[in-house]
Amino acid sequence: MFITVLQFIGWSVFSYYSKVKLESAAIKFEESLVSEVSKNEVVLACTFCNHPNLVPISVSRDNRFICEQCNKENSVYIEIEAVARTEPVDTTEGIKVNNFNG
Ligand SMILES: [Zn+2]
Repeated sequence: MFITVLQFIGWSVFSYYSKVKLESAAIKFEESLVSEVSKNEVVLACTFCNHPNLVPISVSRDNRFICEQCNKENSVYIEIEAVARTEPVDTTEGIKVNNFNG
């Protein structure tokens, strides 16, 4: 009986620490993902005043930004195109980013 109780306590402690370890790994992964996303920034001119703004771009959500000069909201339109391999590929234009008044 005593050994069974000991085993149960041991298992509980083990599963608790495994869970904590797993959660912290998940948080670390999420953080690395966020920092990866934040690297995808482009300079876009405001459609109202033409002031250049540094805008973080994500392909998984709507991209909007408030102009730091005139405080008006801009929408960002992302266009992804396939390019034939026979043409010289300019990797800087893999994703074409435009902005328009939305
Ligand atoms: Zn502006």
